[in-house]
Amino acid sequence: MSNQGFAIVLSGPSGAGKSSLFQRLKEDFPNLLFSISCTTRPPRPGEKDGVDYHFYSQEFFHHGIQRGDFLEYANVHGNFYGTPKAPLLNAIQKGHTMVLDIDVQGARQVKSVLSPEFVQEHLEFVFVAPPSLEILEERLRKRGTESPESLQRRLENAHTEMMAWREYQYLVVNDKLDKAAAEMKAILMAAQCKTQRASWPTQG
Ligand code: ADP
Ligand code: 5GP
Repeated sequence: MSNQGFAIVLSGPSGAGKSSLFQRLKEDFPNLLFSISCTTRPPRPGEKDGVDYHFYSQEFFHHGIQRGDFLEYANVHGNFYGTPKAPLLNAIQKGHTMVLDIDVQGARQVKSVLSPEFVQEHLEFVFVAPPSLEILEERLRKRGTESPESLQRRLENAHTEMMAWREYQYLVVNDKLDKAAAEMKAILMAAQCKTQRASWPTQG
């Protein structure tokens, strides 16, 4: 009995808790993979090239676009971000589970560039929302990673990003982290059990 690989696309406003939830999932599912995006945004203190992101210059990123390296890419809060195509397709082909932390524009592109059959078989879409925009602002300020301009832009964009939540299959409201993490875990486990991903040896 072997299960087919799939990817979980996580979107939600900056500060909603996507990274925190991925870290929590990783504790329960150590084999879970993370899709390392490429970005032109400068690294934050503590972020590692090739671990959190592949940090690219504008020029290098545009070469990547021309070479067709990205499954999707978008300008988010003033910087480019893109999902490398090959690692994702490899992971799925090998039966792994991979998490993509991408914005709503990226999630829409993923749905439109891949065939509906592939999307149905191999992708799950989860929207992570903060309990309110006020709490989002408080968390982003406390995180302390953004310049005043970047913080302002992220808060302005949060309102528009929130309007996309119905485009997703699941909504996780990140009020208490423990509860949100338990919901994410339930989604992942349900996704693993979907019949379209399973095979049963006696029936092929
Ligand atoms: P994202 O990856 O969506 O930008 P983060 O995971 O970095 O968001 O979370 C934003 C900030 O909020 C971080 O400082 C994180 O520690 C904090 N945080 C995340 N979830 C919660 C929660 N449920 N309650 C309180 N703080 C939280
Ligand atoms: P951050 O700068 O806080 O790491 O990420 C900012 C936003 O960019 C988040 O909404 C995150 O989901 C999104 N993002 C990260 N990687 C990608 C990517 O590869 N593609 C797209 N479209 N968005 C991404």
